[in-house]
Amino acid sequence: MATIEARMTQTAVPAQITAGAADIDRAVADLAARVPDALAPLARIAYNYRWSWTPGGGDVFAGVDAERWERSNNNPVRLLHEASSAALQRAASDADLVAHAGRLAQTIDADGERPPMAGRATPARPVAFLCAEFAVHRSLPIYAGGLGVLAGDILKEASDLALPMVGVGLLYRQGYFQQRMDQSGYQHEYWYPLDPERVPAALVYNDDGSPLTVSVPLRGREVVVQAWRVNVGRVPLFLLDAERPENSRVDQWITSRLYVGDRASRLAQYALLGIGSMRVLDAMGMDPCVVHLNEGHAALAPLELARRDIAAGRPRHEAFAAARERTVFTTHTPVGAGNEGYETSEIADVLAGFPEQVGLDFDGFLHLGRTHPDNPHEAFVMTPLGIKMSRAANGVSRRHGDVARQMWQPLFPERPIDTVPIGHVTNGVHVPTWIAPPMRSLLDRYLGAGWTDRADDPATWRGVDDIPDEELWAVRNEMRARFVNYVRDRTATHRLARGDPRWYVEAGEHGFNSDVLTVGFARRLAGYKRIHLLTLEPQRVAALLEKKEQPVQLVLAGKAHPQDEEGKRSAQGLFAFKTTPHAAERVTFLDNYSLNTASQMVSGCDLWVNLPRPPLEASGTSGMKAAVNGGLNLSVLDGWWAEAYDGSNGWALPGDVVFDHGVQDARDAAALYDIVEHEILPTFYERDERGIPVRWLQRVRASLRTNGPAYSATRMMRDYVDDVYALQTAALETAGAAR
Ligand SMILES: *Cc1c(COP(=O)(O)O)cnc(C)c1O
Repeated sequence: MATIEARMTQTAVPAQITAGAADIDRAVADLAARVPDALAPLARIAYNYRWSWTPGGGDVFAGVDAERWERSNNNPVRLLHEASSAALQRAASDADLVAHAGRLAQTIDADGERPPMAGRATPARPVAFLCAEFAVHRSLPIYAGGLGVLAGDILKEASDLALPMVGVGLLYRQGYFQQRMDQSGYQHEYWYPLDPERVPAALVYNDDGSPLTVSVPLRGREVVVQAWRVNVGRVPLFLLDAERPENSRVDQWITSRLYVGDRASRLAQYALLGIGSMRVLDAMGMDPCVVHLNEGHAALAPLELARRDIAAGRPRHEAFAAARERTVFTTHTPVGAGNEGYETSEIADVLAGFPEQVGLDFDGFLHLGRTHPDNPHEAFVMTPLGIKMSRAANGVSRRHGDVARQMWQPLFPERPIDTVPIGHVTNGVHVPTWIAPPMRSLLDRYLGAGWTDRADDPATWRGVDDIPDEELWAVRNEMRARFVNYVRDRTATHRLARGDPRWYVEAGEHGFNSDVLTVGFARRLAGYKRIHLLTLEPQRVAALLEKKEQPVQLVLAGKAHPQDEEGKRSAQGLFAFKTTPHAAERVTFLDNYSLNTASQMVSGCDLWVNLPRPPLEASGTSGMKAAVNGGLNLSVLDGWWAEAYDGSNGWALPGDVVFDHGVQDARDAAALYDIVEHEILPTFYERDERGIPVRWLQRVRASLRTNGPAYSATRMMRDYVDDVYALQTAALETAGAAR
């Protein structure tokens, strides 16, 4: 191809992936033309989410119009489009703001110019990271929960490490649902349209000025997709979009909503992601060295790689082996519903014609999606497909690795469980994203310059022991106080919207107190997360809420999957509790759990509670976010906490598997109340002559020192690079066997 040669001679070794970069530049120029010249750097910053994890990055936009900045959901493109000319003129004549914007733009440019990390991945042959959802920032609502947050954190960490990576996902024109609870605690869902022209995304064009498109054969038709580029630091995220004039309404609907309700559209989404992602990268001249399937949704991608080779004349076995050699797979859920199955008729309907193109008859294709290939009653599931089509597979915590080996052992009937070739890479969180500004500046003072680049090194965090009690406590108090203000405001607003009585609204507006031990529990309202344990023994909860000497307040949030009635009922169980004395001013449920709510909660809560039913928590990451902010974890010994808890850095509930759920719940709820009442409250309220809870702060330091390095995304990404992306099959076989 002449164009590739041209590209190669033009640019020596580009530091970054250039596909779609010119389209971003055009969008920047358009936006810059709308603002005073002095603010042109703001337009550049707006189109790269790198600002969101640069300290003070959001301040330049807030400086233009603080209220609109909040109302735009911290979306810089919308802010600059919607700010009044008076606000823009005022900002343009603010020398400090203009200087800050200039420095920020330079920082982001310099970050992009660093040479790529040495290794297999290069800008022309990057790691392609595929996921159905990405939680990059609150202004881009194409995520549901933990899976998306992890994917967003991976892209950001890859950028920080200068690892050549490209993310591929879908652009949902209505995102994920918004949640509103009614008075009874029943969840209602609604959707907002997402205007791609008003988020930091640029449609990718061909050289001739037409949008770059590829087509994917689905349901007997060619579905045309275009791609938007979003800059996540150095890493481009390409989002596929079926809203094209060539497509019927039904086909456009494929990229309407994340995990769209209708099964055929959902399967079409996954097919579009798997097949479309490979075609779009190919059309852009990229040939990934590794295809990382983050959960099963994109598991058709390696088959598409094989299809291409087969079409070029390669025998099927060779093409399959080559595709496997490039693919790695991360499984995230030991819960059945997370491994959704499709009927034969559904596969036939959506993917008709594709099996043949990969050299298989229809039955042979179905075999790939089954654990027991010859069982005609078994549904087609993406997870077995992903495991079979990849050279490496991993779970997301040490314990989840064990669980996954057990769960998928039937795929390897000749192997005993402990030699099943599924390893683990424990999740981590992107520290610069999740650490709140007061804690960031504290650690900047004690951990040394550039400490976030060494966040995975335990030595980096030793400086935590040098932080004087007064300073650490002052920062925790400041973060709690900010959070309590937020909680009061949101609580009153939500209760008004639900039509609650005035006294109840006012109890929420005035009740929460910035000196009181603040407990957080926020996560998906799925049955196995056991939110119902919090209120399993109403008298004990009532007694805790009535405490005058050692008071406690509780902040809750979480969304139930729209089709999950059990999850929805669990929230109603909590709301039934709202007439208990003191519940009105000490317990609140915040609607619409999101990245924003999460970052407020994990920075402001003293105690972060997690009560999964073991062994169903693959990892959990919100507790890691609380830890880097100096919050303490009280969690079941499942997921990440089973390997993180050391007796000094938080508190633990048993992680054993109990057959009788009723017995287990009663036991665990009692243990929960006991620990809170007899250990946590006394430790938090035990103060020395300076008013400082010395023993509490010892635990906070232990938590920062141990959890900071081990559960940073830096550690996680280095594990992926060294243990998963770099290795070849032979090495992996031995590694898998050794695990
Ligand atoms: C971190 C996060 C999650 C995942 O939390 P878990 O502890 O894994 O349940 C879900 N949703 C949001 C918005 C988050 O920020």
